[in-house]
Amino acid sequence: MRRLYVFDTTLRDGEQSLGITLNVQEKMEIAHQLVRLGVDIIEAGFPASSPGDFVSVQTIARDLKGVTICGLTRAVEQDIDTCAEALREAEYPRIHTGIGVSPVHMEKKLLLSPDQVLERAAAAVKYAKKYMSDVEFYAEDAFRADPDFLVRVIAKAIEAGATVVNIPDTVGYANPWEYGELISYVVNHVPNIDQAIVSVHCHNDLGMATANSLAGIKAGAGQVEGTINGIGERAGNTSLEEVLMAVYTRRGGYGVESRIHTKEISATSRLVSRITGVPVPDHKAIVGANAFMHASGIHQDGVLKDRETYEIIKPETIGVPENTISLSARSGRHALKHRLEELGYEVEGEALDHVYRRFLELADQKKEVFDQDLYALMGDTAVDETVSLKRLSISTTGIDMATATVTLEIEGKTLTDAAFANGPVNALFNAIDRLTGNEATLDDYTLKSVTRGSEALGDATVKLRYSDGAVVIGKGISTDILEASAKAYLNAMSKSSLFKPLHK
Ligand SMILES: [Zn+2]
Repeated sequence: MRRLYVFDTTLRDGEQSLGITLNVQEKMEIAHQLVRLGVDIIEAGFPASSPGDFVSVQTIARDLKGVTICGLTRAVEQDIDTCAEALREAEYPRIHTGIGVSPVHMEKKLLLSPDQVLERAAAAVKYAKKYMSDVEFYAEDAFRADPDFLVRVIAKAIEAGATVVNIPDTVGYANPWEYGELISYVVNHVPNIDQAIVSVHCHNDLGMATANSLAGIKAGAGQVEGTINGIGERAGNTSLEEVLMAVYTRRGGYGVESRIHTKEISATSRLVSRITGVPVPDHKAIVGANAFMHASGIHQDGVLKDRETYEIIKPETIGVPENTISLSARSGRHALKHRLEELGYEVEGEALDHVYRRFLELADQKKEVFDQDLYALMGDTAVDETVSLKRLSISTTGIDMATATVTLEIEGKTLTDAAFANGPVNALFNAIDRLTGNEATLDDYTLKSVTRGSEALGDATVKLRYSDGAVVIGKGISTDILEASAKAYLNAMSKSSLFKPLHK
């Protein structure tokens, strides 16, 4: 079996598509989980793009050991200097540098001739090699390049010292067989290809990112790049969990093996969704809520007789616990701790006391507390909030006017105010704005139920945009959807450095 290296770019290619910047703590939380998942390389950001990205890459490089930390650059010396500086304390640093190689990129974007591109590519790799031995070269828009020119660029990059060569389908244009053929062509025509690992990096514009990546792996690629839940530019990147489970489930077919702990897939997917605020569709392969649900009578009957009739992956393989017993207000601390451990959370001491108190509040509102509720509860981490919700009430007059009365505790003081709007949620947010002096605008608001049934827990997500362009995400859960919405709104405000509660 060949070794398949797994390169995660959730924090770089994934993040750059969100329209938001994750803060260092949020990036660290994801990076720690990626280590538990067992990825080989974490692309932590593009250090030259912003001071915030620089600090994130630097922090991840300093604090995470046992994994390669990679930073992206253009084929520009200053980018490479900045990237090398951000990676200085990494145990295993890697610079990922490169340049566009398709006619449209060279002529329209770079205004360079093919020979100039060849020269720049080699120079960038050589320059990066001054800092570290591990340098990955990307040939941007490789799929739309002339294959013979691509072969020349790759050979030059390897000659200059590239240890990994990335052949991306930047615009998601390839068909699986064509992408496989291109990887074969590179493997068979680049004379010094044995000195580097070939990497595949695909986009999902035609829904083929996973299929294309697998075709490339089959054709000889030794590294796959992608993001958790497939988040990324436009229609997204390759979903790493899909590629990894295809390789795992159809082991014989690819002749490769990764060092991934598949049991961490489900937890990683939930964490990335919570932190980025990008929901996972219910029908999403591998990690969707319905991925292991059998709804039709014929299928249910088959699965009860033998799971293999309609099930190709056991849910527990990706870390979805098999038993679905529920907890209630009568469940003790020990039962809660035990269940949380089965779901992958280790909580003890004061943290357990805190979670247990919140669990009892929830169990009072809902008779049964399911795993999904516990995930939400664990995701609903209290940020040190200077503002907390005490009471809220809504009254509606007619069908298009609602008044919200809200009581908040702001730095120890209890304050009440009311506001009206054309709907209860808007009225609620207006009342909070009046109390706090919040000036951020509401960019997005979503509400979904965590479990089924009338007592289901509501999970609200709020995106607030500040005057400097920064966008923050807040989450709130409650069996009362208006309370969940208010909590999410306050949670987002508490995360922004621009927010200073108004003293009345
Ligand atoms: Zn990309």
